[in-house]
Amino acid sequence: MSLTEDEDKLPAAPVKGSPAPRMKRRRHRPLKVANQLPQKRRKEIEKALEEKSSSPKKWARGLGSKPHLFDRKRIKPNSIRKLDFSLLNVEIGESWPIPVTIIHGSRPGPVVTILGAVHGNELVGPLALTYLCGPNFIGEGQDIDPSMMAGTIRIIPIVNIPGYRRQSRKFPDGRDLNRNFPGNDESNTTSRVANRVWESIVQTSDHIIDLHTAAPGRTNMPQIRANLAHPESNRIARSFGIETILDNEGPKGSLRRAANKSGIGCITYEGGGSNEADPESVQVAIYGILNVLRGLRMIPGYPNRPYFRILASGSAWIRSDQGGLLDILAPAGSFVDEGEVVATITDPERPGISHDVLSPNRGLLICTATHPFVTAGTPIGHLLPMKSGIKTLQKRLDDEGCLIISGSDGEPPWREDDDVEDIAIEGEWSGGSPDAEWGHNDISSLEEES
Ligand SMILES: [Zn+2]
Repeated sequence: MSLTEDEDKLPAAPVKGSPAPRMKRRRHRPLKVANQLPQKRRKEIEKALEEKSSSPKKWARGLGSKPHLFDRKRIKPNSIRKLDFSLLNVEIGESWPIPVTIIHGSRPGPVVTILGAVHGNELVGPLALTYLCGPNFIGEGQDIDPSMMAGTIRIIPIVNIPGYRRQSRKFPDGRDLNRNFPGNDESNTTSRVANRVWESIVQTSDHIIDLHTAAPGRTNMPQIRANLAHPESNRIARSFGIETILDNEGPKGSLRRAANKSGIGCITYEGGGSNEADPESVQVAIYGILNVLRGLRMIPGYPNRPYFRILASGSAWIRSDQGGLLDILAPAGSFVDEGEVVATITDPERPGISHDVLSPNRGLLICTATHPFVTAGTPIGHLLPMKSGIKTLQKRLDDEGCLIISGSDGEPPWREDDDVEDIAIEGEWSGGSPDAEWGHNDISSLEEES
């Protein structure tokens, strides 16, 4: 089965239930193993990689860089420019200018564009890219130093700015920008914006990293989605340096699919949920972007490698077979066994009865529901079934059985201790201690000091 970003129409998958009343076991087709691409797909990828060398274009690095042209502006080599790009080409009325940071290196090299909030309510990208545009990453002696850099990096934290301001995935005309590429400059508003982005931003890039999160009501473990048979995408998907890559083309009209068709390397990063700022997903995004830039030899250093890689060509959905309120026991990123209870469902209208939702396979849960309300058939988890590599994966599980994603352990790179401000609050504790006002029994007074 195919995987798509923020997919809403999900394929059916079996769920086993317990305890009473016992649910019927459904027959199901054998599942594709996630960490092993089918032979047919492997051959397709090998053939594609052979046909077009995935090695970078030969940039004449001995020469100086030429100015970078963007939206009729010229950016000098070895410089950083912050400018606005209008989503609509109009003389009067709303043009939706979006901020663009361009770092143009001192030597020739590829153009890499990094996009956030193509869906306006997906905030991990905007956060990661805002940090990446700041002084902790850009400037003399930092990771992104134009004097040490080959090629051009264009950072666009918010693409869908009207959606972002309304906290909405879509454009104000109700359309999804990421289903309208390459767009049409004589069609509806979203399609015009898509076409502007396509002509000025996508077509002028060699590589694109598009940052997303799960749609409302779910959360994603950090993962990459890429068409591995597309050589330039394969290369940057691997150099991102995290464990999980879902191999697929992307939905029709998505930026990634359209870019690939046009010969441009493009990967989607998915981490966390919409309308939230999951710090781990933000951190992994920054880690991966820097790895891609290193892998393309644009900035100094070598990309960090993950401990292992899961290349997934298929998945299974775990669905609720009952209605009610969900309590997720295995969060996104958990490694689960076949038959393991991943969630329980209770119904406030029928107290006293609960149903367990069991995992149909052993594998890695890459997405789980966050909205507790479910009816029969609601997907509550997205699973990569695994038959090999289990021992390797188990070495990288934390105490709760969740995969430790490469780049998520260690200090967040945008926060240095010197930057953390200590704030003093003056006053006194009512009753003499922080918890004194809570209660009057002996236990609470004993526990105050713990
Ligand atoms: Zn999205």
